[in-house]
Amino acid sequence: MGSIQILLSTALRDSGLEDIFEKVVDGRRITEAEALRLFESKNLNAVGAMADFANQRKNGLHTSYILNRYINYSNYCILSCQFCAFARKKRDSDGFQLSLSEMVGKARGALEAGITELHIVGGLHPSLPLTYYLDMLKALKALSSRLQLKCFTAIEILHISWMARKSVVETLQILKEAGLDSLTGGGAEIFRKEVRSLIAKGKESASEYLDVHRQWHLMGGRSTCTMLYGHIESLDDRVDHLRQLRALQDETHGFTGFIPLAYQPGNNSIPVHHSPTGFDSLRTLAISRIFLDNFDHVTAYWIGLGTKLAQLALQFGADDLHGTIQEEHIFHMAGSAAPQSQTESEMIKSILESGRIPVQRDTFYDRIRIHEESSMSYVTPPR
Ligand code: SF4
Repeated sequence: MGSIQILLSTALRDSGLEDIFEKVVDGRRITEAEALRLFESKNLNAVGAMADFANQRKNGLHTSYILNRYINYSNYCILSCQFCAFARKKRDSDGFQLSLSEMVGKARGALEAGITELHIVGGLHPSLPLTYYLDMLKALKALSSRLQLKCFTAIEILHISWMARKSVVETLQILKEAGLDSLTGGGAEIFRKEVRSLIAKGKESASEYLDVHRQWHLMGGRSTCTMLYGHIESLDDRVDHLRQLRALQDETHGFTGFIPLAYQPGNNSIPVHHSPTGFDSLRTLAISRIFLDNFDHVTAYWIGLGTKLAQLALQFGADDLHGTIQEEHIFHMAGSAAPQSQTESEMIKSILESGRIPVQRDTFYDRIRIHEESSMSYVTPPR
């Protein structure tokens, strides 16, 4: 038994999770029942140690971040998901829709700051034609050869295809030709129908969400995926959600990473008025890392977690801190107290302080720059 295993077995002593730990060490897949046992355990250190082991086996000490910018092209939406604080109707005074020149202006400013990715999503707009999305992609793609466009949730793809009266595959193909590099993972929420109909009534079904990603993967595309946790769902619902993501990944290997999203309780109609606790967020990240053995990366999404908990999550199985973001609406309109943006040096500092090696990545998690120990000046000196 190596030193890591000895340390781990100390952390796991009397946890009642030793059999699961053995599977993780052996590289064997854990079952849904075992994932539920991990969720029900109060021994967060043991679960975290297992997740850290699983992460380091895949990624070593490398922990990534991306220089990116969010742009929401519009918040008009024909749906009214109960958890959503972002969507507006045309009659609302605070609805917005960006023109092409406004989007290009935002992108230009961000490119000057060094971004490599634009992350673009919006509501299900009642009338925008397919040409709006194609012109947007083409204009943004023309700005820089280094710019990668990560755009649209699965339900946006379905909506665009319905509006254009085209199949999902045709729509994805046309968007790809116009410059779409990757789909975002948003909109997964919780897959189980009983929960989904209470938090996102009218939204696409789990199988529709998964099928959009499947079709995209089958044409060679990559995407991320998410889970919105900490509202009315049960722990079993979370395991069911992870099971479905793991199954699609077995089929296509098209997901680049998984991003658990902490529920934000502000300005919505769900009768849960608090976001998940730190304990709940850390165990969810950790169990995701252990259960999703066919995923390379798990993200600590600082917009939902806050920057301090996101840093801590790097010891609980997460190997990615997401990005600089610059302008975020969806979580902040629902009450997120996280800042609007992070600088690269703040993210590097967070990663170094947790004993990891910062890696600037691109949209596909390919490495752009590795900050070896030369960056240690970012670490806060001990008092
Ligand atoms: S979550 Fe998306 S689809 Fe649902 S109401 Fe909000 S913007 Fe519309």
